[in-house]
Amino acid sequence: MISDGLVLERACTQCGASAKTYYAQRCGDGALTWSASYRCDACGNAVEADGGEELPESVRSVFLIERGTWRLMLMDAAGRTLDLVLALARALRITSKAALERVNAIPAYLAEGTNVEMRCLERRLASAEARLSVERKPGP
Ligand SMILES: [Zn+2]
Repeated sequence: MISDGLVLERACTQCGASAKTYYAQRCGDGALTWSASYRCDACGNAVEADGGEELPESVRSVFLIERGTWRLMLMDAAGRTLDLVLALARALRITSKAALERVNAIPAYLAEGTNVEMRCLERRLASAEARLSVERKPGP
């Protein structure tokens, strides 16, 4: 299980007081999920929510700012470019042509996102046996 979490201040849905909400993004068995939970100190309201694959965009942008933007780099396709292209197209729901362009780009970074998203994608591409590396995007 790969996971990362952070705390955001959100208004309580019951009383409007500011409540610390814990968000976590996880990858288990190659599938992304996220969850949110908070307990309001003002009124005792408690919420646990389990989300699907897509982290809410407003939360995802905080993960990117606080934890950095990460890239899945292709180091070596190990002679199995076609397998990698097909696996990448399937994982990202893009066309094989778009996947091929990413594989052939120099430097070849296959995708960009949160650390957990990239590590999850790396696992989903494992069957292609390419040499991959998750690296933090340089810059602020
Ligand atoms: Zn409350």
